This record gives sequence, structure tokens and C-alpha cells, in this order.
Amino acid sequence: MPLHRRLDVRLTAAVLLTVVALTSAAPTRVPTVVLVAVAAVVVPVVGIVVHRPRPLLPWLAVAAMLGFWAAGMLDLVADPGAELAASALTQCGLVVAIGLIASIFVRRRRAAGAPRPQRTRAEAFGRRADQYVVGAVVALGVAQVVATAASLGDPTHTWAAVVAPVDVVLACLLLRFAASRHHLGASGALLIAAALSTALCDALGTMDGVRFVLPDDGLAVLWTAAALLYACAAVQPSMAVVFTPALLQHRRSESARLLGLAPLALIPGALYAIGGAGLGQRLPTWAYLSVAALVGVLAVLRGAQAVRSSERRATQDPLTSLANRRGLSQAFDALLAGSASGPGPVGRVCLMDLDHFKHVNDTFGHETGDRLLVAVGTRLRSAVGARGTVARSGGDEFVLLLTPGAPSPDELLHAVFREPFVLETPLARHPQAVTVSAGWTELHAASQLTESLADADVALYSVKTTGRAAVACFSQRMREDVLGRLSIAEDLRRLLAGGTDAGSLELRYQPLVALADGAVLGCEALVRWRHPERGLLAPDAFLGLAEEHGLAARIDEQVLIAALAQLATWDRASSRRLFMSVNLGRSSMLDPGLDDRVRSALAASGIDPTRLHLEITEHEELPSTAGVAPLSRLAAMGVHVSLDDFGVGYTSLEYVRRYPISTLKIDRSLVEELRHEETSDLLRGVVLMAGCLGITVLAEGIETAVQHERLLAHGVEQGQGYAFAPPLEHDRFAARAFTPTQRALAAF
Ligand code: C2E
Ligand code: MG
Ligand code: MG
Repeated sequence: MPLHRRLDVRLTAAVLLTVVALTSAAPTRVPTVVLVAVAAVVVPVVGIVVHRPRPLLPWLAVAAMLGFWAAGMLDLVADPGAELAASALTQCGLVVAIGLIASIFVRRRRAAGAPRPQRTRAEAFGRRADQYVVGAVVALGVAQVVATAASLGDPTHTWAAVVAPVDVVLACLLLRFAASRHHLGASGALLIAAALSTALCDALGTMDGVRFVLPDDGLAVLWTAAALLYACAAVQPSMAVVFTPALLQHRRSESARLLGLAPLALIPGALYAIGGAGLGQRLPTWAYLSVAALVGVLAVLRGAQAVRSSERRATQDPLTSLANRRGLSQAFDALLAGSASGPGPVGRVCLMDLDHFKHVNDTFGHETGDRLLVAVGTRLRSAVGARGTVARSGGDEFVLLLTPGAPSPDELLHAVFREPFVLETPLARHPQAVTVSAGWTELHAASQLTESLADADVALYSVKTTGRAAVACFSQRMREDVLGRLSIAEDLRRLLAGGTDAGSLELRYQPLVALADGAVLGCEALVRWRHPERGLLAPDAFLGLAEEHGLAARIDEQVLIAALAQLATWDRASSRRLFMSVNLGRSSMLDPGLDDRVRSALAASGIDPTRLHLEITEHEELPSTAGVAPLSRLAAMGVHVSLDDFGVGYTSLEYVRRYPISTLKIDRSLVEELRHEETSDLLRGVVLMAGCLGITVLAEGIETAVQHERLLAHGVEQGQGYAFAPPLEHDRFAARAFTPTQRALAAF
């Protein structure tokens, strides 16, 4: 518990004990009662003004209730004979208290927000059973109050005896409330303690045959304690939220709800006891027995229902109410057990996940994402019907277990995802086309769930690596491909860990030239992997895998260090100063320490930061802040940032705004057009835009002299491509770049 909370608890306890001690001693009793009565009027008002609770009405009710009780007490202090006025004020306070408690129980508006889990018939019964128990005990209490009120003519019964059953029922309802709530907060706990003290005070008073507490009576100890507890509850900061619907309707756990029935079970016995000698009119014994029996039976049924729903939950996904992995396993066993043994297929298992689900979560929030999952689950369940089982195995991954009569996964998923889904956010409804990637496999009598899911997963994986939004059936070939990729990933891991048996990374350098005269201005470092068995691998063969396995940033770092070291070596051999352009992949962009790595590589090589160009590319699902801060810090040091492959994606313009771009590298596909077309309006527009922003334009993939000429005519300043040179080994690059004839394009 934090220090301020501990101090708070200690201070409250100290004030309470002092007041109880002062009220216990006869000489100081009346002044203390007066002091507390005044405090009970003032403090809640101060609490309301300072903490501004929402909703306000319940606290106004608390203040009014305390006001009535304090006024009654002060009236008695001023005039001990003013019993009628004191009685009226006390009863007014009681009416307000009952109204307050009733309003708390009636507030059942559900806080909007998270999707509502589907309630089964058993759960609906559980809720009704709780209400029946409350109804039965309240009815018993009311019957006893009515019977006692009707018997007030009997001299053995005082009017105060009417209050006793009310107190018992209210106290037990409050105990139920406290037992079944997780988050009462300090103010809530103090309010409950205060209400229980009030009920106890009343009950004891009733036993003594008094209608209200007198200022000089021993019971005044309990009265002051109760009044003080209310006052303390009103000054706690948590008073601001104690009556909010979200807290009042906080979903209770099954065990807490069951526990909450225990105080209610006490009511028939307690009412029977206080309905006895001198404490009011007792109802016929069968009334108590039948309510006690009803409460007992409902509590047992409720317990059984709670156990059943917890058993059901063990096999069910709480969000979508679809089967979870355990439920799937049971359905799988049942499918195989019910199928004829033979070589033929006995069903299919299909593993699917939603494409770009993360995008939905990021754009519309997790609650909307959850609603989409529920909607997908509902559509899948109604499409599959009795011809299989739908399970959610986690995140946005679903499993379909299909009987032989069910449609193929292809048809089924096509039907389910043909219509867009409607994403509901607090502000609007967005129709959203959703696509899925899925892999499936046939089941046979001897199939195992784990292996079948693994096969379906291989098929799903192969769909994802070839562009998503498709359904594939598992084949052995797919498994070999996946295993091949996994073994390459394993080799890559060994290579980066320094293993000598996994080959080595090599760099090639492709000249970046001035288009006007063909002068080499710098080069782009391009990585290759000399694999011991597979030969020289191009980046496309392993960089994607490296990204998947979290190894790509380390490759980029090794390339950066080696490329800068190479530039330093060339510097020692020639006076000509070129720049070095190095590519950064997705993982490097996500690395918050990117600038530190680049800085230390620059420091190790002694290369001036202005001679380093970092090439970034746009990536799907990259957070908009990725790399922004590190690249800005590097740009401030003089490092250049180039936007690679510009023109193939659709968010490139956003990248120009977000990053400190100094060069646009026009993608080969745009340059390709100039083979057949003399002009390109798009290219002209890009050059114009770059000119306005002070950004250099470099064209990639120039393969012919015609393209070169046309690019020059469009105003493109720099270029790269086979027309000048392919990526070269370091010595061949140096031989070309640093020879006196390097300006002649044909030299390459
Ligand atoms: P990129 O950065 O756009 O590099 C240019 C690619 O185009 C290189 O392919 C280069 O060989 C190729 N190219 C250059 N001129 C021509 C041409 O005239 N015609 C054609 N058809 N192609 C040309 P490469 O070396 O296979 O690299 C492919 C991609 O791999 C690079 O595209 C870059 O995105 C990535 N890459 C290469 N090295 C690294 C690295 O160290 N780190 C990271 N993260 N990515 C790298
Ligand atoms: Mg590049
Ligand atoms: Mg490129």
C-alpha cells in the first residue's frame, strides 16, 4: 500500500477511535455527539464541493440523510423532550437511505463499450436465480414490517420494532454487495461500514425498545461512529467515482456472486429471531421455513450452474463463444470417433487468419478489433452450422473442423467474406472488406490434431509468403519449401553468430553516377551471401527470411560497418571522395538505437557523416513514428537519407513529409516506361515536386542509352543501372571509379 494510503487509513482509524473513546465516557459524550452531528452536516458538503462526484445525486442523498439524522440529534440535545420532531427527522433520514440503496440496486444500465459476451440459458438462469433470492428475502422482510406495523396497538410492540426487519434486510443486502464487488475503493468500503454501523445501532436500539438514539445514551457511541464513517467516506478522493454506473455494474466473478448469496441466506433466520419476543410481530413459522428452503434450493442450483458454466468456459473462447483449443480437441476426438474406419478422408481441418487485422486494431482501436472478431466468429459459425466446429485458437486465428458433408474451405470462406463487415466505432460505422489467408488439410481415421494443424499451418504459411488473401491445401512440397526456408534461417542465424561453416556475407558496389557526364559520385552497397551449399545468394533469397526471424537489423549493421570500412580503404588509396549508400530494412527502421549504431560505425571508420547515405523503403504496417527520431538526429549530423524504390507504393508522399529525405530514388518500374515512351508525366511531376522541396532525384535501373537520354531530358540528375555498371566487387569498382577514364560511360 502506498505511503499516503497508509497514512490515510491510520488517520481515519485514529479519529474514529478518539471519537468513540470520547463518546464512551459519560462527561464528554454529549459535546462529542454535538461535534460529530455538526461534522456530519458539513463534511459531506465539503467532500462534494472538493471532489465533484459524478453522479451527484447519490451524494446529495447521503448528505440529506446525514442532515436529517444530525438535525434530529441536535434537536434532542437542545430540547430532550422534542421526541416527536426527532422521530420524524430520523424517519425522514431512513426514507432517504432506503431510496438511496434502492437506486443503487436499480442502476443496471450497462456501460457501453466492449462487445457483450453471449449469455447461455444456464447463465441467464443464474442471473434470474439471484434476483429470485433477493426478491424472496425482501418480500419476507416487507411482510414482517407490515405485520409488525399492524400490531403496533399491542403494548408489547413499539414502533421502533418496525425498523428492525428493515435494518436486517438492508444490512444483508449491503453485505451481499460488499462480498460480490472487487473494486469498492476506500470511499465505498467506508460507506458500507457506515451503513452496517447504522443498521447495528438501529437494531440494538430496537432491542432496547427505543425509537432513536438519545444523545446521552450508550448507543450514541455507535451513532457517532456511523456518522463519522459517512463523513470520512465523503472526503476520500475515491468518493468522486463510487456511484458511477461502471463501478456499480462492475462485472462480478461467478465465485463472488455465489459468495454474495451467503448474507441473504441469513435473513430468514435473523427475521425469525427478531420477530420473536417483544421485537415485533413474528410471521407464521412456515413463511420463514419456505423462504429459507427456497433460498437454499436456488443457491444449490446456482452453484451447480456456476460449476457448469466454468466447465463450459474451459472449452470456450470468452470473446467469441467459439470453441477454444480444448473445445476443438474434444470436437476433433468426437469427429474421429464417429467416423467409419477406412482409408478415405473423414473431414478437413482449416486454419485461417485475417489479413492485416493489426491494421484494424491500430486504426479503429482494440474494441472495434474485438467486435470484428466476434462478427467473423458469428458468420463462420452460421456458415458451418452442424457440419463442423469453429474454434478461435488465439488472436485473429480461427480453426474450422469440417465434416465430410461440409462445403470445401474455399467455398465456405468465399461465402463468409464476400460481403464487407461493418466496423462500429463510437463515432461512425465503417464498411470494411476483410480478406483471409487459410491453409487446410484432409483428416483420416488415424490423424492427430497437432499434426493436422501443423500441416494446415504450413499451407497457411505458404499462402502468406505468396501474397495472402487465398486458401491453399497442404502438400508435401509445401512442407519441403518451408523446411528449406527454415534451414536457411538456421544457417543465417549461425552466420550472424560468427559460425564459419555458414559461409559469409559479401558486398557488391554499384556506381551512382551524375547523368550529365557519367561521373561516379558514389556507390550503393548491396549485400550477397556466399552460402556453402547454395552458392552466391541474392538479397531477395534471404532478407525476407532474416526479417521474419529478427536477424535483418544485424545484417544491415554488418553491411554498414563493412561498407564504411571499404570507403575508408578507398580514401587511403585515392584522393577522390565518393559517398556510400547503404540500405536499411524494416527492422532497422524499428530500432530506436539506430542512430547510435550508425554513429559508432562512422566513428570506427573515420568517415565524415555527410558521405553516408541511408536508403529507406516504405513498409506495410510500419508504425508512423518508426525511425523518425533516429533518422532526424542523423540528418542533423549531416547523414543523407534517400527514399528508395519511390513510386511503387502509395504512401511515398507521406514518407517525404515524415523523414528528412534528401534523395528520391525513382523505382525501376517508372524508368522502364521510358524505354518505349518519350515522356512520362508522372516522372515530370515527381522531378518538379522534388525541385520545390530541394530534393535530388536519382533514377534506378537505367539499362539503355535511350532511357538515360530521356531521363536527362526530364531533368533527372543522378542515376544507377546496368547501362553504367552492375553491382561490382570492390576491386573492380575501384578500378573503374578511380581510373582517369572513369568519366567515360563505356569504361564500365
Ligand atoms: P535496391 O536498394 O533498390 O537496389 C537496387 C537493386 O536493383 C539491386 O538488386 C541491383 O542489383 C538492382 N539493379 C541495379 N541496376 C539495375 C538495372 O539496371 N536493371 C535491373 N533489372 N536491376 C538493377 P539487388 O542487389 O538484388 O538488391 C535487391 C534489393 O535488396 C535492394 O534493392 C535492396 O532493397 C535490398 N538490399 C540489398 N542489400 C541490402 C542490405 O544490405 N540491407 C537491406 N536492408 N537491404 C538490402
Ligand atoms: Mg537501395
Ligand atoms: Mg531501389
